[in-house]
Parts: sequence; C-alpha cells; structure tokens
Amino acid sequence: MALAAVTVSALFLTTGERTVSVATCSELPTGAMTASYRSDITALRHWDKSVITVSCDSTGAAHDMRPALQRAIALWNARLSPAVTLEIASGSTTGDIALSFVPSGTLPGGAVGRTSVVFTDPEQILMGATVRVDRNLSDDMETQVIAHELGHALGIDGHSADPKDLMFPIAHLPAAITARDTNTVQQAYGITARGAVVVANNR
Ligand SMILES: [Zn+2]
Repeated sequence: MALAAVTVSALFLTTGERTVSVATCSELPTGAMTASYRSDITALRHWDKSVITVSCDSTGAAHDMRPALQRAIALWNARLSPAVTLEIASGSTTGDIALSFVPSGTLPGGAVGRTSVVFTDPEQILMGATVRVDRNLSDDMETQVIAHELGHALGIDGHSADPKDLMFPIAHLPAAITARDTNTVQQAYGITARGAVVVANNR
C-alpha cells in the first residue's frame, strides 16, 4: 500500500447577498432525486475503526472552541453512532482528526475551512486528517463549518450540489446534516440506513 495525501475541501462563506439557484424536488424529473450524492463526489473513503478521535487546538482563538466542536460532533453522532462514533481526544493527545483554528484570511482562496487527509492507496482507508477552521466565525457558523469539515474528514472528498446539504460548498445555517449527507457517509462504512428493512435472500 502507498500513502497518499489530498486536500479535500475549501469551504466558503457567502459574501453579502447571493442567490443560489437550484431546482427544487418537484421541478426535477421523476427519479432525479437521489438519496445520496455519491455520484457527485470525487472519492468516498473511510476509517478502519468505529471510534474516531478529534483533537481541538484552540491556540490563538478568542475562546475555547471545544463547545462548537462538541455540537458538530453531536450532529454526526446522532446520524452515525454506534457504527461510527466521533469522540474528543483525551488530554493533549493528537486525534485521528486534528482540528485547529486560524486567523481569518489565512486559508487559501478566502475559505473558512479546509481539510487534508492521508489515506492508503488503493484501499482508500483514512490514516489521518487535518482540519483548519477560521477562528473568527459566529458560534453557529463555527459549528456549521466544523461539522462540514468533519464530513470531509469522515471520508467525503467532494461536495453536494444541493444547498440544503451540509456538504454544499458554501457555508450556510442552520447547521444540519440531511438524509443525503447521512446516506453518503453511510455508504463508506457499509451502514444500513436506520429503519431500513433488510431482506436476506437464501436459496
Ligand atoms: Zn467542503
């Protein structure tokens, strides 16, 4: 196996008024609404473990960023746990996912969040992720951006084209994980959607 590294995201904020035009569900032809955006993204990777730790370096931030991280983690855990659980790393241990905060304007292209991952090739198993987030966002937006970047760190390499999804490339409120976000990540971990009826065919 070889190790590869890639930067999988740059999340942007809208500046001023901006209208994003998209077709709504009812305007799309029957069958066009997919339950995930797997076909829109570059790659879908996964961690080969069920508990993934996240460390939080608030150095330079105006306040402790852990509450925002905890809210972002709770959003994902509500969808994925117990099959996959995100957990804050203990003490000063560097987590599987290392989150830190940077001054506004220091991420390339004016982004407010950026994630790089290291993974095995060709297995596409994640070995580490580095997440950097703008440290001067509102609490709500901080949570949204962290949750979005955690989506990349969980294995989504690419973005959804639907502005309602957490993984749309422009940060938006409220911070919420849609069924499409959930279904996309679940495909990486082989998780059957909650409530789905599983039929085993034997013959
Ligand atoms: Zn992104």
